Amino acid sequence: MIPALMPTYNRADLAFERGEGARLWTEDGRRFLDFGAGIATSSLGHGHQHLTRMIAEQAGKIIHSSNLYRIPQAETLARRHVENSFADSVFFCNSGAEANEGMIKAVRKYHAENGHPERYRLICFDGAFHGRTMAALAATGNEKYLAGFGPPVEGFDHVPFDNMNAVRDAIGPNTAGVMIEPVQGEGGVRPAPLRFLRELRAMCDEYGLLLALDEVQTGVGRSGKMWAHQWAGIEPDVMSSAKGIGGGFPLGGIFAKEHVAKHLKAGTHGSTYGGGPLACAAGNAVMDVVSAPGFLDRVDQVARHLWRALLALAAKHPTVIEDVRGAGLLLGLKLRPEVNNGEMQNAAVAEGLLTVAAGMNVLRLAPPLIITEADVDEAVALLDRACLRLTPAGAQAGAQAAAQ
Ligand SMILES: *Cc1c(COP(=O)(O)O)cnc(C)c1O
Repeated sequence: MIPALMPTYNRADLAFERGEGARLWTEDGRRFLDFGAGIATSSLGHGHQHLTRMIAEQAGKIIHSSNLYRIPQAETLARRHVENSFADSVFFCNSGAEANEGMIKAVRKYHAENGHPERYRLICFDGAFHGRTMAALAATGNEKYLAGFGPPVEGFDHVPFDNMNAVRDAIGPNTAGVMIEPVQGEGGVRPAPLRFLRELRAMCDEYGLLLALDEVQTGVGRSGKMWAHQWAGIEPDVMSSAKGIGGGFPLGGIFAKEHVAKHLKAGTHGSTYGGGPLACAAGNAVMDVVSAPGFLDRVDQVARHLWRALLALAAKHPTVIEDVRGAGLLLGLKLRPEVNNGEMQNAAVAEGLLTVAAGMNVLRLAPPLIITEADVDEAVALLDRACLRLTPAGAQAGAQAAAQ
C-alpha cells in the first residue's frame, strides 16, 4: 500500500528531533555533524537563538495577513536587501522554483512592455537546476525530471556550460535573456568561471538581453560574499533567491533592477503567502546576522580553511576523490568513477556526518554559515574515515604504508 506521505523521495532512515549550531540529534539519540544544512538552507544552523526568537515573537503577534495589506516586516526586509544587493526592488515568494517562475515572467514582461513580445526565450545551460514547477522544469531541461509530464513549457534553449560560442549561436530574434546559476548546485557544484559570467554580462548588453541569475543556492552569504555574482564584479538585471534567505523558514525572492521591476505592476504577479509577516521575520533575523560587519569575512575564512583541508583529503585518497570544486561554503568532492556518491554519502552518515549528493558523481558540502574551523576539522576527519570505508583493501594497506 502506498505510504500516506507520497513517496517522491528516497529518504534516509533518519529523523531529527533537535539541533544546535551545526549539530543534529535523531529521535533515538544519535548525533550528527550537519554539512548539508537541509540542502544549503539552514544558513544559521539549528536552534539559532536570534532566529528562533524572532520567529516565535512574530508568530505570537500575527502569522499571516495577505498582500491585500501593508506588511511592515516585508517592507523592512526588502529595503535591507536592496541596500545589500544590485537590486532596486524585491518581490517575496515562498520557494526557489516560485522565485524562478517569477524571474522568468519578469524577463518576458520586460521585453513585451518594450514592444518585443516575441522575445520570450531564455538561453539556459546543460547541468542546470531551476526547480520542479512547469517553467522552472523546462528551464532545468533535464530529461529525467521532464519525463512523463507532457510537453515542456516553450521558450528554453539549452547550451553547454562555459561555452560562449554556443551561447552566441543560440541567440535568435526570440531570445529574451540568459538564465544561469553562478555555481551549478544540484548539477554537481560546478562554478561558472568568473570570466564566463563577465562575458555573458557583456554579451547581454551587446544584444539587449537580460541576464537572469539563479542564486537560489548560492545567495545570502553562501559563497563568502552576499551574492556569488559579486565575485565576478558584475550585476544581473534580475535574480532569484531562496534556500538560505529564510534560514530554513520558507522564503524566496525575485530581485530586480528598476528597468525590469517597474513592469511588474499591480495585478501582474502575486502570491497569497509570499512575503508574509512570519517569513519576513525569519528573513530579517537572517539579515541581522549575515549583514553584520565581519560575518561574511568569517564565512570566507572558514570556507578557505575547508577548501585547503579538502585538497589535502583528496591528495590522501586519490582512489576515492578526483577533485575539489565549488565556492565559499558550497563545495563538492568529485569522486572517482569507481566510487558512487550515494555510497560515499552513506559512508559519511555511518561516521556521523551529513552531506548531500549532487550530479556528476559529486558529494556536496553546504554547512551552515556559522561553522568554525573546529567544525571543519571534525567534518574532514569524518570524511577521512568515510573514504577509508570506500577504499579497496589493497589500496588502503598501500596508503597506510606510504603514510608511515
Ligand atoms: C533548490 C534550487 C531551486 C529550487 O528551489 P525549491 O525551493 O526547491 O523550489 C532552484 N534553483 C536552484 C539553483 C536551486 O538550488
